[in-house]
Amino acid sequence: MELSRRAVMAGLAAVGCPLTPSQAGQDGLAPPKPAAGRVERFDALVPRGARLRRLAGGYAWCEGPVWAPAFGGFVFSDVKANREHVIDPATGTVRTLREPSGFANGHAVDRAGRLVVCEHGGRRVSLTGKDGVNRMLVESYQGRRFNSPNDVAVKSDGTIWFTDPVFGLKSPAEGGGGRMELPGAFVYRFDPATGGIDAVAKEAGQPNGIAFSPDESVLYVSDTARSLEQGSNGHAILAYDVGADGKLSGRRVFAEIDPGVPDGFALDVKGNLFTSAGDGVHILSPEGEELGRIPTPRTAANLAFGGVHGSTLLICAMDTVYSMELATRGAAII
Ligand code: MG
Repeated sequence: MELSRRAVMAGLAAVGCPLTPSQAGQDGLAPPKPAAGRVERFDALVPRGARLRRLAGGYAWCEGPVWAPAFGGFVFSDVKANREHVIDPATGTVRTLREPSGFANGHAVDRAGRLVVCEHGGRRVSLTGKDGVNRMLVESYQGRRFNSPNDVAVKSDGTIWFTDPVFGLKSPAEGGGGRMELPGAFVYRFDPATGGIDAVAKEAGQPNGIAFSPDESVLYVSDTARSLEQGSNGHAILAYDVGADGKLSGRRVFAEIDPGVPDGFALDVKGNLFTSAGDGVHILSPEGEELGRIPTPRTAANLAFGGVHGSTLLICAMDTVYSMELATRGAAII
């Protein structure tokens, strides 16, 4: 899928921009669609009449959104353009936050409202303070540099959990490439209070999206190995039980996503999981049952809840940023 994405993107401009009022709008989009027999549960999340709104476009490759009120809206990455932006979901106004961004991809917000950043090019996880100053948090495990940190979640105890697949190494446009130093693509837990880092999952294929259940008892990690190898089984969201000691156990397949892969995802307060997929956003119950889909005209890569009520779903889809107002709200809204 990566190859086809690149082919599609090759002709698009690298510089993104907000849309004029006449450009913004619904883009002739297909409406959200409940799964068979799940209309009521779906309607309770995606109200009837909810429509996708095209907020901004013209980017090289949108990724990694997070609601970051201290920065003025949703922060997202334009990975291949080596920039981070902030978008106000109410107006679609966009400003550039950091350039170069170290080919930043996924983001999270810590308990102090600061921005935790996964950098493909920098091969590190960094922290941007409310003053805009960025500094390195962690860049190696057992003396070896990370592959290309991709996505991140911050637990309420302040620990930072992130994935480290090889996509930045394989794609120079997403971080400049480079040599793999570690023996695999792992999930890490970093404690900024102590500087300690542990590899908490080594059997997650190419781990990509990452998020906790609302009570933090379960960690979800997506495996997107299929992006590297067509026909691979790597298109599942895995679930792990989170121990009080910070260790994971009980690895299991929560759901397999088709078409495409589950890149980034987010959970609502009820534990429903909203994941990116090849045809848009798939909504899964806490038991992993599909409740329905929100089609997007471009492949969705990542998404986040936010907005003043926490009920705006922001979707990064190739060159375009979309939003939709939902009847639920995000699980981890600062
Ligand atoms: Mg990702």
